[in-house]
Amino acid sequence: MDAAAAITDGFHLVVDGLKLNGVDTIYTVAGIPITDLLRLAHTEGMRVYGFRHEQNAGNAAAIAGFLTQKPGICMTVSAPGFLNGLVALANATTNCFPMVLISGSSERHIVDLEQGDYEEMDQMAAAKPFAKASYRVNRIEDIGVGIARAIHAASSGRPGGVYLDLPAAVLGSTLELSAAKKSLFKVVDASPASIPSSESITRALNLLSKAEKPLILLGKGAAYAQADKDVRAFVEKTGIPYLPMSMAKGLLPDDHAQSAAAARSFVLKNADVVMLVGARLNWLLSHGKPPTWNPNTRFIQVDIAAHEIDSNRPIEAPVVADIKSAMAAFLAAMKPGQIKPPAAWLSSVTEQKQKNVEKMAARLNADPTPMNFSSALRAVRSALSSRPDVYVVNEGANTLDFGRNILDMKEPRHRLDSGTWGVMGIGMGYAVGAATVSGKPVVAIEGDSAFGFCGMEIETICRYKLPVTTVIFNNNGIYRGDTPGIAPTPTGLYNNARYDKMIEAFGGVGRHVEKTADLQQAVSEGIASGKPTLINAVIDPQAGTESGHITNLNPKSALHK
Ligand code: ADP
Ligand code: MG
Repeated sequence: MDAAAAITDGFHLVVDGLKLNGVDTIYTVAGIPITDLLRLAHTEGMRVYGFRHEQNAGNAAAIAGFLTQKPGICMTVSAPGFLNGLVALANATTNCFPMVLISGSSERHIVDLEQGDYEEMDQMAAAKPFAKASYRVNRIEDIGVGIARAIHAASSGRPGGVYLDLPAAVLGSTLELSAAKKSLFKVVDASPASIPSSESITRALNLLSKAEKPLILLGKGAAYAQADKDVRAFVEKTGIPYLPMSMAKGLLPDDHAQSAAAARSFVLKNADVVMLVGARLNWLLSHGKPPTWNPNTRFIQVDIAAHEIDSNRPIEAPVVADIKSAMAAFLAAMKPGQIKPPAAWLSSVTEQKQKNVEKMAARLNADPTPMNFSSALRAVRSALSSRPDVYVVNEGANTLDFGRNILDMKEPRHRLDSGTWGVMGIGMGYAVGAATVSGKPVVAIEGDSAFGFCGMEIETICRYKLPVTTVIFNNNGIYRGDTPGIAPTPTGLYNNARYDKMIEAFGGVGRHVEKTADLQQAVSEGIASGKPTLINAVIDPQAGTESGHITNLNPKSALHK
């Protein structure tokens, strides 16, 4: 190398530092001051996916983190672009997904004296309350440290979102090549194993062995841990009924004999010992409290985050560990015949399951015109039944709630949905993230309202020719549609919109369907073709209920009749 070339700059160091740590993909929207950074990453062979809005790029990075256990990387421009990405970073943190948001920022000396710079903002401070950690690199020689700290913080312990601030001046400054090389390093053991104490394992097994009505509850932490074989072996060796939280569906196939999903309310109300595995007792589980739960339930909780223990109900047997290590320890410590759930409990669960399945069958097998949520989801389910490899993204109110119950999953980490916040708008970002990480087809089942938050990304899907089939459950509104002819209400959307036409503008395949048979066929063809497809599925505007299954969270005005 000649003397003139013996320097490098911040742009090169960021790309080299990321590549050194195995990062091969960036989700982003280009602009000042990161445009050249993205160009460089692109020419250096990284996969750079350009989105239309930073929130969707961030959601793609977050779900990539969930699927791979490596932080997904999102890059944004300063202030407004950063804030857009911050929504996704906060959502990643809330869901315990590893992600790093890297944003360019304006001149420090101007920002800090509030002298009015282009896109002026103290982004590091703004990110702090919404992220697991928030760092800024102020000197070019610290880029390597910044990347390493961000990766460690995002991946270790309970994973989460980390913000890394890169001022434009740092990107543009230079460093001698020899010093630059030394300033980068490769992270060793980004998510170290957390081994449970043997006392905690014995305590948990003892409690489980005394249970009259035990239940195992699998959450998305268990799915994230990629301990699929051991989780299944543990469930099967104990013979205990289990319930999957929505993103843990498929960890064991939903048609597994021990699944208590069809008897959910019954087992939550009656179980006397519940073992939580990577699931929090938050609102999605009614905080573990009556009337949903038995007031006398005793709890075992397996979680990597010690501070999660005792968050809502007393935990009699905490097991603080990563789930892979915990499951291995349980399997090693369990004595033959030690855990044997009473036959009476197992048969009562089976009986309740049968009753509920029969009750649901009538609604599920009906074929009304226009379609309702159940019949349309049955059609989608039929199309998916022969393709367990397909990733399912699901959001909406009714579309989500019915989807969670009706769509069976057979593979781990193949259901990606609104998650811990119950957020809307993750759909297209998650779809792009899942497609780019896995190379597999994705079917995104979207309420028409949820789609509105991220719908422009169908252009991104078409541009990169991703195998994503988007199904819009179009009932003309949030929860339900307006009566035709009246002025728009706060929850109404454009009547009889043809979302299928949108994708045609970008060369994708648009389908408009009104019948279940056509919907099933359109989904099957979308998957088989591998082409970006958008299916406008007409749902009865009167079919939805307010907030889906969580109507009870909506306070009613005293004046509301
Ligand atoms: P769900 O919504 O499916 O109930 P939550 O997001 O509420 O799941 O809970 C996931 C839990 O899993 C979090 O408390 C988190 O700390 C924990 N967790 C995440 N990864 C791991 C892991 N590898 N090992 C153990 N626990 C984990
Ligand atoms: Mg709707």
